[in-house]
Amino acid sequence: MNLSSEFRDPDLCRRVLEQIQHLADSPFRFMEVCGTHTVSIFQSGIKSLLPENISHLSGPGCPVCVTHDLEVNTFLALAKMDLRLATFGDLMRVPGSRGDSLKKVQAEGARVDIVYSAFDALQLAVDNPSENVVFLAVGFETTAPTVAATVKVALKQQVENFFILPMHKLVPPALQALASDPDIRVDGLLLPGHVSTITGIEPFMFLAGDYNLPAVISGFEPLDILQSIQILLRMHKEKTPAVINSYKRAVADQGNPRARKVMQEVFKPVDTAWRGLGDIPGSGLSLRKEYLGFDARRKFEPAPLQPETNTGCKCGQVLKGKILPPQCPLFASVCTPAEPVGPCMVSTEGSCAAFFKYSL
Ligand code: SF4
Repeated sequence: MNLSSEFRDPDLCRRVLEQIQHLADSPFRFMEVCGTHTVSIFQSGIKSLLPENISHLSGPGCPVCVTHDLEVNTFLALAKMDLRLATFGDLMRVPGSRGDSLKKVQAEGARVDIVYSAFDALQLAVDNPSENVVFLAVGFETTAPTVAATVKVALKQQVENFFILPMHKLVPPALQALASDPDIRVDGLLLPGHVSTITGIEPFMFLAGDYNLPAVISGFEPLDILQSIQILLRMHKEKTPAVINSYKRAVADQGNPRARKVMQEVFKPVDTAWRGLGDIPGSGLSLRKEYLGFDARRKFEPAPLQPETNTGCKCGQVLKGKILPPQCPLFASVCTPAEPVGPCMVSTEGSCAAFFKYSL
């Protein structure tokens, strides 16, 4: 199948849409976990084509959006120290508790480099041996293995001026927290395709087993998403909640064991705080003992974290699917992509940014 045409074929999409309309005989609330799905649903027009009784909510699958205020404050504190930060561009405009951002502190003289991978950051350290380079390690299971591999290379090559600030988050524990929250009512989940390439299907099986919640690992093309919604509706109609991998062209049921192995060699699971979702047991990653020398928190001990301030941002409720972005009083008035108040408006995968770009 030609991915660029057949997975966007209007006739095929129309046929699946007709089946969706036939199956959606009562109100349904589905959540897409992954920010890339959010953007794809808007970009392809799926949101406006779905029957009115299907609501689509964005979940906690944008790594920038779920980076906690305290983590943002930590890397902003590091930026003000005598070192060089290497980061993905998405983090540049995320506001900290006092309205600072990497972009602002960079304008004031902080050394911040945008890189495209952890290996780029390691190379920056190798090329600049007189400077300490700290890589801001955000992301889910998708990026953690590459960061782990980079740390292993740094150890092998004895690069002594390379460090990471571990802020990785694991998706299955977050979904466990969402599924067990009685205030969050969703009828099915579109599971993240990229994360699933690493995890495989097994870590998500509890959704159907423990919570009777249908879930589908979905690709990102319009036909992928429509088929996944159709599968969710069919499972409801037949009362057979299950976890289905409908993205088999990219996701093996067993995931990527080699990537998980390197991740597990370097990192261990720890409790961590998510923006909006709070502390979630076992949902973060910290460096194992033999790699602690690469931990920027231990090495530089950034200044005590500032308390959170109340900006009025409702990202927490957006990430839990409790409100849609336009229900935030700041949406499109005080908070815009040019002047974001919260991270959901910063990242291109953020729900608020997607609503702003495609709905206004
Ligand atoms: S519109 Fe802005 S302030 Fe409101 S929830 Fe979204 S990011 Fe936060």
